[in-house]
Amino acid sequence: MADLIRHISNNILFLPAKLFVLGVLCSKEVQKIEFAMPFVAVNNSAFQKVRDNIATDKIMVGVMASTDPDAKKSDGVYLTGPNLLKLAPLDQTRDLGRRANVVHESVHAALDIDNPTKPVTVLHAEAAAYSAEAIFRRLLNASSNSPSRRPPSFIHHEDSAMDDIRKAAWSIAVKCVDDRKSEFSEKDSEFLDLLRAIMSAPLYINDEPFWEFVNTDGV
Ligand SMILES: [Zn+2]
Repeated sequence: MADLIRHISNNILFLPAKLFVLGVLCSKEVQKIEFAMPFVAVNNSAFQKVRDNIATDKIMVGVMASTDPDAKKSDGVYLTGPNLLKLAPLDQTRDLGRRANVVHESVHAALDIDNPTKPVTVLHAEAAAYSAEAIFRRLLNASSNSPSRRPPSFIHHEDSAMDDIRKAAWSIAVKCVDDRKSEFSEKDSEFLDLLRAIMSAPLYINDEPFWEFVNTDGV
């Protein structure tokens, strides 16, 4: 299976996705993402490890077919077994969201590379991944003179559970980028709000229960 994925990913069609992901991970915004949460620390050295593993094909980057069941759930997914980061088909119009997806999935990939000895729940891994994604977006628009606490334009109300997660993650991003807070714990209301939002989302209740431990097996 791993050989097959390796073979497919070497196909030229996959090269643009790999270059796209490496481009995002080399951006100055990604290099500035730095925070710690219970069980998960996210910083440039974690993203650097993901970059190195993708550059050397230890982590594959693929594009999901429209028939891929994962494409219905999310615009991105990271699979720990085959070390495969899959993105929905790349297109220009959704570029910003797609770059944020890369940041999110790279947090999962970094956890897989680290293979922490203390198990990490889906809840804590997702909290870190959504926070990293929001911090990336906040860093991207920090240079504009828009008020930082304005509701972010990427929140739309088609999926209220996901909106709740993104709103809570945005509050963390504002704390992190604007107030330079880098450590979050259960004592922080923003962090608790994010955990609560993830615990209420159907995706995690039905599909990938938030109390399970994430599989990490090293890369
Ligand atoms: Zn995730």
